[in-house]
Amino acid sequence: ESGIPTVPAVVGARLSVPLVTGERITYANLDHAASAPCLEQVRDAVDELLPWYASVHRGAGFASQVSTKVYEQARDTLRRFVGARKSDTVVFTRNTTDSLNLLAKSLPRRTSVVLFDTEHHAALLPWRGPNVRRIQTPESAAAAVPALEAALKLCPEGPRLVVVTGASNVTGELWPVAELAQVARRFGARIALDAAQLAPHRPVDIKALDVDYVVLSAHKLYAPYGAGALIGRADWLQAAEPYLVGGGATKSVVDWGDHLGVAWSAVPERHEAGSPNVVGVHALAAACDTITRHGWDRIVAHEQTLLTRLREGLRSIPGLHELAIFSDADRVGVVSFTIHGHEAGLIAAALSAEYGIGVRDGAFCAHVATRRLLDRVDATEQRALRASLGLGSTLEHVNRLIAALRELVTNGPKWTYVQQDGRWVP
Ligand code: PMP
Repeated sequence: ESGIPTVPAVVGARLSVPLVTGERITYANLDHAASAPCLEQVRDAVDELLPWYASVHRGAGFASQVSTKVYEQARDTLRRFVGARKSDTVVFTRNTTDSLNLLAKSLPRRTSVVLFDTEHHAALLPWRGPNVRRIQTPESAAAAVPALEAALKLCPEGPRLVVVTGASNVTGELWPVAELAQVARRFGARIALDAAQLAPHRPVDIKALDVDYVVLSAHKLYAPYGAGALIGRADWLQAAEPYLVGGGATKSVVDWGDHLGVAWSAVPERHEAGSPNVVGVHALAAACDTITRHGWDRIVAHEQTLLTRLREGLRSIPGLHELAIFSDADRVGVVSFTIHGHEAGLIAAALSAEYGIGVRDGAFCAHVATRRLLDRVDATEQRALRASLGLGSTLEHVNRLIAALRELVTNGPKWTYVQQDGRWVP
């Protein structure tokens, strides 16, 4: 793999998986966009904390002090990782979906929300009411800017929020976030950046982009499940009712006889009721630190080298159409495609059973976007295949996928597959 920059190692890089023949093969995980494998440094950081974790904030014991320190240090790490302003708050959540739902619940009354219809369901669905405006999929990154302008012109007076993804989970394409933020500013709107797919692949800088909120998930950022963050302006979150009620979100509770008098904590604790995921946020922070220390240049170069090879290879497969929102966008290592005359689910099943390759098929929790993009390539079914790269990806994985697709398209699968509960099985 000479010529490809080395990057931090992931655990399970040499996992062996069974093929349908009974042989075993090294797993080629080409599904980083769904969940990325954990970094070795993250595993070590978790291992180190496991004997020590204890209740944060309230415990007087030494282990509690360690946990509290680790938990609060993780906030600082996340703050640095996304270039947050001093006044921004960092609320730990379960994942991006949780972060966006928290933000949606914290909007001032009558906030107008503007978003593109290409968003992941996590960003598309939490906003309710008559003041939600969806913008039709633009043809180019440049066209997204006037489209947002036109939508904001139609918003009534009052608070406004624009929600946009940094990188599409369907096509990997980068959205012109800084330009969209400038438009938002001109209309007095705030802007929330869904960085679930961007943060694992490119640096995110709140100040440079001039966005108000950033949300992300640990499990896409080379740390395990269960931790995420909402980072940004504190005022709306501070004025909102606590997202969940319970211990940790309260300063005091007094019995007034007919009711309980509750003084809620300030942010971030206000929205972190219940015992927090100390190990999860420590893992997330360790991933952020590892990436920062290694340096984005080599991480981006590694991925772009593999992505170029992947896209070139895919273009050589007969009948293959890559999905694209824009005609002109740079992208992270996520590629969705259809192959004319071949069912996505069957190809995905054969890639796993016969070649030990993991890809995704379906509409990727972005049904509106995926269907629209499938229409553009005259697809015969409502599903696509998606291959996505990351720190666990190698040139061998990419080459294996291209060779496997060529064989499957030319000769068909070697085994017979039947449908069971909507999935193809050999
Ligand atoms: N936004 C985007 C762009 C995503 O790719 C995803 C995950 N596929 C999400 C939001 C939701 O992330 P999570 O499932 O971790 O909440």
